[in-house]
Amino acid sequence: MTLFLTIYLFILGLIVGSFFNVVGLRVPIKLSVVSPPSQCPKCGNRLRPRDLMPVVSYMLSRGQCRQCGKRISPLYPMGELATGLLFAWIYLTFGNSWDTVIGLLLVSMSVILTVSDLKYMLLPNRILLAFAPVFLVLRCLFPDDSSVWLHVWGAIAGGGVLLAVVILTRGGMGLGDVKLIFLLGWILGLPNLIPAFILACFFGSLVGGLLILFKIVKRKQPIPFGPFLLLGALLSFAYGDTIIDCYHSILM
Ligand SMILES: [Zn+2]
Repeated sequence: MTLFLTIYLFILGLIVGSFFNVVGLRVPIKLSVVSPPSQCPKCGNRLRPRDLMPVVSYMLSRGQCRQCGKRISPLYPMGELATGLLFAWIYLTFGNSWDTVIGLLLVSMSVILTVSDLKYMLLPNRILLAFAPVFLVLRCLFPDDSSVWLHVWGAIAGGGVLLAVVILTRGGMGLGDVKLIFLLGWILGLPNLIPAFILACFFGSLVGGLLILFKIVKRKQPIPFGPFLLLGALLSFAYGDTIIDCYHSILM
């Protein structure tokens, strides 16, 4: 049964991941997510049903438009595959529990926001506002360690600290990041927000450093921080307790 549900969630992830790509690319520029149907940005060729199979279509067409041969961004199949793998991972980690529901929602929001942040350097309010009420209700009903206060303090700590960073650095970090970490603080609660933030800074500086080293981006060119925050949040959501236990056992 576990295997069946894991495979089911993997395939479901591939399919909804394809929709998340569209949402992440269209919502920031205020386009409808349902019409027009996906088309080639160069020749306007409408995608037919055989082009809409996640990942598989991309491989069959070798990443090109069937009509004009324009290259299709590998971000599409990567977003689909990431959603499928993360959905399966959440289920394998949490099984039949409400944490699985919260985890799947967190993955969904993460994929959409990552697409949007990578493409436009934006974490759209409309996406955050669509997910926030659902997380608000779910965490009130199913808080970590049966204490909703952990989540209240997480939101205050996350939002407050980052707001201070924004004010002190005068825009070194965007307001979108503040809103995101406010919401992540609510979802993760304290203390799990702390390893999430440390992991985000670690991965952010590592990837940022490599991008500068290999001259893919210029020094001082801003790189989006949202994807790193979301990666840190997902890791801490699943392994936060373990990370904190390890940290304590090193200190003792
Ligand atoms: Zn084309």
